[in-house]
Amino acid sequence: MRTLHHFIGGRQVAGASGHFGEIFDPNTGAVQARVPLARQDELDQAVADAEIAQRSWAQVNPQRRARVMFEFKRLLEVHMEELAKLLSSEHGKVIDDAKGDIQRGLEVIEFSCGIPHLLKGEYTQGAGPGIDVFSARQPLGVVAGITPFNFPAMIPMWMFGPAIASGNAFILKPSERDASVPVRLAELMLEAGLPAGVLNVVHGDKETVEAILRHPTVKAVSFVGSSDIAQSVYALGSQHGKRMQAMGGAKNHGIVLPDADLDQTVADLIGAAYGSAGERCMALPVVVAVGEATANALRERLVAAIGKLRVGVSGDPQAHFGPVITAEHKARIARHVQAGVDEGAELVIDGRGFELAGHEGGFFLGPCLFDHVKPGMKTYEEEIFGPVLQIMRVETFEQALQLPSRHQYGNGVTIFTRNGDAAREFAERVEVGMVGINVPIPVPVAYHSFGGWKRSGFGDLNQYGVDGVRFFTRTKTVTQRWPRGGAVSDQSFVIPTMR
Ligand code: NAD
Repeated sequence: MRTLHHFIGGRQVAGASGHFGEIFDPNTGAVQARVPLARQDELDQAVADAEIAQRSWAQVNPQRRARVMFEFKRLLEVHMEELAKLLSSEHGKVIDDAKGDIQRGLEVIEFSCGIPHLLKGEYTQGAGPGIDVFSARQPLGVVAGITPFNFPAMIPMWMFGPAIASGNAFILKPSERDASVPVRLAELMLEAGLPAGVLNVVHGDKETVEAILRHPTVKAVSFVGSSDIAQSVYALGSQHGKRMQAMGGAKNHGIVLPDADLDQTVADLIGAAYGSAGERCMALPVVVAVGEATANALRERLVAAIGKLRVGVSGDPQAHFGPVITAEHKARIARHVQAGVDEGAELVIDGRGFELAGHEGGFFLGPCLFDHVKPGMKTYEEEIFGPVLQIMRVETFEQALQLPSRHQYGNGVTIFTRNGDAAREFAERVEVGMVGINVPIPVPVAYHSFGGWKRSGFGDLNQYGVDGVRFFTRTKTVTQRWPRGGAVSDQSFVIPTMR
């Protein structure tokens, strides 16, 4: 069995705590690797190395830092197949989807190649007599990222791309459930020319996370994971004086108006609800049909389309989706499905009994479809994070708009319609951070930014894009004058003003 190592100071470092987590092969259910869980002294070592490395990294001019990003992007492309296979073997998503995971992170690296331009400050000549003002963005020092299992390549790169390009050193604490790809990314960054110690991977669990949040040298922490944990991480980090951003869970709605192109809508819904076995924070697990006729037509088409889905091992090129991450998560999804049945929703398709021949120990679930799901049901109010799609029926546009707006989560939402006026009004009024109009998974491109509202995101700055650079830098503003010498021309005991 493989044993993973931390990646500290540019080299693999064996875990010393004696505590380990297990990485499964979700296709078979077997444990395939052990991951060390760091304790305080191991974290202290990584932070100390990072602190030293950061001082000289911040002195490297931004164009040279960008060149490391360019080279890293090239290496990601060279190693795409290898990374995708590794990712898929630990996560369980199919290979093409694993490539998408890497590619979406790579696109943030591309954005980070523009860091010289992004760090350029502002300048005012003659803000007062002989006075100029300029501002610049400076790195924070040692910063950290704590990431979830479901995007083991993309989300680390969302964070360390802008952070490192801006001149920070980074401690990555990836999910302990699929931690191999994050280590490979750090190795490739070193190969791309990043000095040792600037990017460190420290594996761990809750205890490690709390040690990061309390560590006096760590200046900012970016977190992505489930909402209860995001909220407590946000609070603990803030208490310890850190700049924090914490993205949480989701329950994204797809609103279908009566004029939508139903064939395209169903194709989009199926991909967005069941892709990656529903383990995406931008999955579309709720579909809100406006009008009974829309709901009935939609249901009929969804049932037919679900019948054609192929669940398979993650390496199967024909499979639409693979297993979920752990047996525990599979059982949790099944409990959510049962809750829906007990609460009176109609379980139209039950995927709980699904078994893949030859892979009976794998963490597979077939697609599930509910109809007549209602607000107030636990199965609706909570995130399930599995291959479960829920149909809700409403009569009016206004009722459809209220559902995602009132939900505790506000990550993504999509409206399917041909009516531009309705779509425009929906996008303006809905209380959700990322909106799609006939786009099922509206994850913003790398030069915009990613962030949900309400319990999907704690903090004010989004992930990546200009917000990412802002999060990992601080503004310094300099007001200067160069008196010519001679007599003192002014002295004031009054606060300087521009009167
Ligand atoms: P998780 O909350 O269980 O874990 C996230 C990270 O927190 C991991 O690194 C984990 O080791 C750590 N952690 C676990 N328990 C902790 C605790 N008690 N205290 C401190 N840290 C702890 O999330 P997950 O299951 O890995 O990922 C799935 C969740 O992430 C879903 O809720 C999904 O919606 C969410 N997610 C959100 C976004 C987003 O951008 N909004 C993106 C991807 C995933």
